[in-house]
Amino acid sequence: MDRRTFLKTTSATAAGAYAVRAFPAWANAQKSLVAVATPLTTFAYSDVQLHDGPMKRQFDENHARFLNLDDDRMLKVLRQVAGLAAPGEDMGGWYDLTGFSLERNDFHGFIAGHSFGQYVSGLARAYAVTGSEPTRAKINRLVKGYGETLDPKAKFFVDYRLPAYTYDKLSCGLIDAHEHAHDPMAMDIHEKLTRAIVAYLPEKALSRAEQRSRPHKDTPYTWDESYTLPENLFLAYQRSGKSFYRDMAKKYLEDDTYFDPLAEGNNVLPFEHAYSHVNAFSSAMQAYITLGSEKHLRAAKNGFDMLVKTQSFATGGWGPNEAFGEPGTGQLGNSLTQTHASFETPCGAYGHFKITRYLLRVTKEALYGDSMEQVLYNTILGAWPIQADGTSFYYSDYSTTGKKVWYNSKWPCCSGTFPQLAADYHVSTYFRSADGVYVNLFTPSSLQWSDGSGKYGLKQETKYPFENKVQMHVSASQPKEYTLYVRIPDWARPNPVLMVNGNRISAEVEPGTFASIRRTWKDGDHVELELPMPLRLEVVDANHPNNVALMQGPLVLMAVAESQPTFERTALLQAKPLNNAGGDWVANAVDGSSITMRPFMTIDKEGYSTYVLLKS
Ligand SMILES: [Zn+2]
Repeated sequence: MDRRTFLKTTSATAAGAYAVRAFPAWANAQKSLVAVATPLTTFAYSDVQLHDGPMKRQFDENHARFLNLDDDRMLKVLRQVAGLAAPGEDMGGWYDLTGFSLERNDFHGFIAGHSFGQYVSGLARAYAVTGSEPTRAKINRLVKGYGETLDPKAKFFVDYRLPAYTYDKLSCGLIDAHEHAHDPMAMDIHEKLTRAIVAYLPEKALSRAEQRSRPHKDTPYTWDESYTLPENLFLAYQRSGKSFYRDMAKKYLEDDTYFDPLAEGNNVLPFEHAYSHVNAFSSAMQAYITLGSEKHLRAAKNGFDMLVKTQSFATGGWGPNEAFGEPGTGQLGNSLTQTHASFETPCGAYGHFKITRYLLRVTKEALYGDSMEQVLYNTILGAWPIQADGTSFYYSDYSTTGKKVWYNSKWPCCSGTFPQLAADYHVSTYFRSADGVYVNLFTPSSLQWSDGSGKYGLKQETKYPFENKVQMHVSASQPKEYTLYVRIPDWARPNPVLMVNGNRISAEVEPGTFASIRRTWKDGDHVELELPMPLRLEVVDANHPNNVALMQGPLVLMAVAESQPTFERTALLQAKPLNNAGGDWVANAVDGSSITMRPFMTIDKEGYSTYVLLKS
């Protein structure tokens, strides 16, 4: 992406939408510091508004939760270690300074202050969306408060369990505070922290196996995530122009044991930690964007392809027990009877959205949008909201008899990624190209943009995926020729329909591609999309051909039952919609009972089976 163009766009739209958000002059002084201008770019967070629906609800819930979280509590562990006055209640859970005990296995005091940077990041992105002045003020207080706890040697990290893990999140929070909330101190603090953290990091990115050979003294948790550092280091380079960030990013690319074999098509995912290794794909993408390294683009593309084809459930989730398994061994089907920890949902979805956004920007291929929406509707939109005391949703349960449950420790990793992801819904819905606009997600929303010639917009109205039609209304201060690209999901067969002002477009509308409509758009033009959503079955893996998920459009329909029901194939494919608000269907099981089939989004405390059995 051309940083200068991006900043100019941000500046113009921010000024239009929220006059209070003045953009400081230094922000425009950035030079273009990337090697690759991606064919698609994201819009600014402020260019997109979500309207009533589950995505907006999750964004609002997360924004309110962290806006209302007490500053003193968030800063407490950082102040305690620094020897400063540390008022306020303990946060509890993972976040606290003491209390970690492997025996108790509740991870209390697991990684003190680990998610502070993510909470700042989530708030900064929420500020970028809303222009909320209390949010901006809170970001400034938190950054200043963090800066007061930071000494030139970052002593907070002495004997710290996972320094790379927590540094990476602080790095992201400070970059976002600078980029979105224009915090005046954030990048100075970032540099001070980064120069100090080097003393606590290994000399290169270490795989889990390498870390096991050099154990940490106080726990068997001998892993840290040094291999996820480059993404934010490259972004810090792009923010600041300081080359030491770029040099450090290159040093932590996990080439020897991960990106080199992935680039050559070797599937080295098995036995790696799932989320952090998907997150590492985004570091490879920044190596491509910042340095122009084609090898790293190949590594990310191949790795994502292996993720989808060898590690993923019908929901789009992956990594039971947070690990990748060996392809061809039936590991996904086996996991259905072995664990309830099937998919680390907020973190996994956050990483999945990031890598699919990067790959979409570079390749313009619809399959990445398909994959993003699969994860959206079947995983994260079914996650319960973070509670005031830090109680969080963590694992989705795809076991034969699954249930939604709260995680057993407060403020876990997934409380950090959820607010970031919910803000990122805004930058995942539409993309911009040199010749027009891409519609990637179908959700009630508005997009506004402007260029030298005028102001333009697009508004979506839909109950998708609970109905198969999407209405789009065009606004334009004057007629303008551009191409509107609309994602046609690969499952939308046969004969998806795309109409402009009531007339079917003449070009072919091919599932698995972005359909394009180039014309001179006028204010009041109307686009209608109608997607066939046939029922279909997807097996969990080749070793378990009778374990199938019932799918309709992007949704997995899960059986509401206390034990895994069995169906005849034809009876399952003859399920009928109940046309209720929850998107329920009903199908007849072999024992004669009628089983409700319900999307994960609307399941609450009832037992369910993600995969049902086919009578063999
Ligand atoms: Zn997590």
